[in-house]
Amino acid sequence: MPDSPRTRIDPAPTDASAPDPVVRCAACSREIARLADRLASDPDALHTFVNPQGEVFELARFARADGAAAFGRPSLEFTWYPGHAWRFAGCRGCGAQLGWRFEGPSIFWGLVRGALAWP
Ligand SMILES: [Zn+2]
Repeated sequence: MPDSPRTRIDPAPTDASAPDPVVRCAACSREIARLADRLASDPDALHTFVNPQGEVFELARFARADGAAAFGRPSLEFTWYPGHAWRFAGCRGCGAQLGWRFEGPSIFWGLVRGALAWP
């Protein structure tokens, strides 16, 4: 029947079952990074930090995030990862702040869980 009653409303399609799921900018839906690019050392971990203003952030770490751009000068001030300077990480699509890029002995992106749309 072409017009059978709808018993449910499906959520927006996600990539959860796709072979290469991605996280997207929560503001503009641009693809930011692949789940496969989360750091191999802690692929499922969220790191919780408090900044000097008392704001709490949950970070997921990615080895690469092609949809994000780092900007600003690297700073070691209040860095959450010793030896790693941070720069701001913004969405290449809309400029929303997504987290930070950390640069030091290793380079990775620490992206705020709530700034991303997860599959
Ligand atoms: Zn965006």
